Amino acid sequence: MSQSRQVAMRRPPVSRVAIIALAAIFVVGLFLMGFDQGETLSLVYGQDAYVDALLHEFTHDMRHIAGFPCH
Ligand SMILES: [Zn+2]
Repeated sequence: MSQSRQVAMRRPPVSRVAIIALAAIFVVGLFLMGFDQGETLSLVYGQDAYVDALLHEFTHDMRHIAGFPCH
């Protein structure tokens, strides 16, 4: 004779703030990794950031591996 028992499990609620924060981190990270050509650092370094493109150089190999357009 089998006996079954139901156990009610509730998932812990996920905060909307956490979802929005993670979505914002994702969007910013995607931009920095995939599309930045100096725009972000130009806020600090001015026009020199477009020439140096430090974030582009830092993420260059990841761009190619992920299939983002690069050069
Ligand atoms: Zn490239």
